Amino acid sequence: MANRPAFQGEVVVIGGGIGGLALSLFLKKAGIVSTVYEAAAYKAGDGGGLNIAPNGMKVLAALGLAPKTIACGSVARECCFRNKRGKTLARYSNGTVEKYGQPSVSMTRSALYDVLKTEMHAQGLHVHYEKRLKDITQDSSQIVAHFADGTSAKGDLLIGADGIHSQTRKLILPNGPAPDYVGIIGAGGVVSGSAVPSLTQRDKESLNFTYGPQGFFGYMGVHDGNVMWWANLPRATELTRAELTNFSLESLKQEMLAIYRGYHMPVEALITNTHTPVLHNISDIRSLPTWHKGRIVLIGDAAHAVSPNAGQGASLALEDAMYLAKLLRDSAAGYEHVFTQFEHERKPRVEKIVAEGRRRGNDKAIVSPFQAKIREIMIMIFVNAFGKMGRNWLYNYPLGWEASPL
Ligand SMILES: Cc1cc2nc3c(=O)[nH]c(=O)nc-3n(C[C@H](O)[C@H](O)[C@H](O)COP(=O)(O)OP(=O)(O)OC[C@H]3O[C@@H](n4cnc5c(N)ncnc54)[C@H](O)[C@@H]3O)c2cc1C
Repeated sequence: MANRPAFQGEVVVIGGGIGGLALSLFLKKAGIVSTVYEAAAYKAGDGGGLNIAPNGMKVLAALGLAPKTIACGSVARECCFRNKRGKTLARYSNGTVEKYGQPSVSMTRSALYDVLKTEMHAQGLHVHYEKRLKDITQDSSQIVAHFADGTSAKGDLLIGADGIHSQTRKLILPNGPAPDYVGIIGAGGVVSGSAVPSLTQRDKESLNFTYGPQGFFGYMGVHDGNVMWWANLPRATELTRAELTNFSLESLKQEMLAIYRGYHMPVEALITNTHTPVLHNISDIRSLPTWHKGRIVLIGDAAHAVSPNAGQGASLALEDAMYLAKLLRDSAAGYEHVFTQFEHERKPRVEKIVAEGRRRGNDKAIVSPFQAKIREIMIMIFVNAFGKMGRNWLYNYPLGWEASPL
């Protein structure tokens, strides 16, 4: 049973994504009442998959959800870098439980949502669906979220966990930076393991990165032998919402097969056997002037969207959720101080990772065959050397939920 938290009041959480659900669970653990309002209708979760790095897994472990997450995913033991022909350029351990406390785990996005939503239900926490935040009003004593359906919700604090296109962010920073498109369309899908019989167990338990002159392609095992892939498709301008959802499966496959012709197995088989691919415009937010205003604060992608090329966005949203709940639990200095401290302590880390995500995306660009050869040599030298040195600064970040009160 939690002790009486320093913050006494009710929290309105906008966004029932990874950060918003984790935040509500941590607030419950802290003894703080919260309600989540989600724009979308209830669904099992978006398509595609993702990898939760050890730092994110440690946050899920603090919620008691690491075993369930591991059970619905696949542990990614190694990172393997190859060239177009399949030659291994670098391979290193992706961290062990002994080293980082938790493994790195790959899973479908819907499996992760399922773990979080099932826990919300078990804890008696509710998500109100089809509640799209439109406006916020606040005075010295309360805050009111106004939704597109004409309803509203009151609370003492409002936490915007509403993702990269956050309406909360637009309301507190009307002239603030918008998400910056990085020139990449992310394509991805999940394929049954039976469609790629050549894939070894070691490959399925790795994050596999293939660098060729025509572009980057990645794949990893997710669950039950299934394999998730993702690719960076350079494009000068973003796709429209209609283009992202109403594309022709056959045209996309033909386009991708033309790009990745001659790449090693299983690249072609993964593209050919995909039935429901997903497309995303890849954008990031390098820095906001502030993450909070009055009784409102941003977490996760709303505050610091990071390119998927960093493989860290979900883990950072989880870290934010745990740390903000911990500050509200422990700090007697009031919510304004908590928000300032939260931003001050989180910003340097997340902005460094956002920059790394952008750099990693650029490193995967389409290049000439000569430049591709140079890139292969650089990977053989530097990725091998630095990869093996470990990713301590990233994975061993201290955020302990049970740390002594501030
Ligand atoms: C293709 C792709 C691959 C990725 N792969 C990885 C990976 O391997 N590892 C990793 O760590 N990260 C990865 N990421 C990044 C990761 O998905 C995000 O960083 C993470 O989901 C952020 O969590 P969040 O809770 O802040 O936002 P989200 O998970 O986006 O959740 C935001 C929620 O807010 C809701 N919402 C939006 N607007 C409103 C509104 N006005 N009112 C109410 N609700 C609203 C949305 O419907 C959504 O449910 C990837 C991202 C993409 C696009």
